[in-house]
Amino acid sequence: MDLVLATRNQGKIDEMRPMLANVGFNLVNQSDTDIPSPVEDAATFVENALIKARAVCAATGLPSIADDSGLVVAALGGAPGIFSARYAGEEATDGDNNARLLRELASHTDRSAYFFCCMVFLRSAQDPTPLIATGRWHGEILTEPKGDGGFGYDPLFWVPDLKKSAAELVKAEKNTISHRGQACALMLQSLSAQPFTATR
Ligand code: IMP
Repeated sequence: MDLVLATRNQGKIDEMRPMLANVGFNLVNQSDTDIPSPVEDAATFVENALIKARAVCAATGLPSIADDSGLVVAALGGAPGIFSARYAGEEATDGDNNARLLRELASHTDRSAYFFCCMVFLRSAQDPTPLIATGRWHGEILTEPKGDGGFGYDPLFWVPDLKKSAAELVKAEKNTISHRGQACALMLQSLSAQPFTATR
């Protein structure tokens, strides 16, 4: 059976596909379909993840898995948070967002931050019992970009234990420790504990 990854973010797809490879579904990318992305107008990661997954389920009649994630910076009161993808504006590039983050943090000494990921699995648009898994990855914000891998804020996210930025990690290494990797691992546990029935 097909399972749709409810995202158009290639960085997320590249990370999620290998982690979900053995999930027992044939993974389909939303970005390979003409299903538009819905407006994410909720106040929390979990609600926005449900909006994304539900829109894809409704459009396809298939189960769907969505990730809503972002960077939470202590000195900025939790910003950019749920607005991470559009921190520097609706059409912002990763470079624009990183530049704004550096500007906003310029006068702060506390550069601690974490990535948060909420992953949801919906069997159908009306599924009343979504599977929900979260992950949190702590680090610090650098004063200039480092590394050219990953996506989003990875070049500015310093991982103290590894003495590398997230953009200097190979994908498999990032997946073992990242917010998305943690959420994916928990989601896989939930999926294996609750065999899929489309009618639930
Ligand atoms: P979403 O598509 O609304 O969930 O927005 C996610 C945004 O958060 C991305 O566009 C990135 O800016 C940021 N983000 C989430 N996860 C990561 C990550 O693993 N590395 C770097 N940036 C991330």
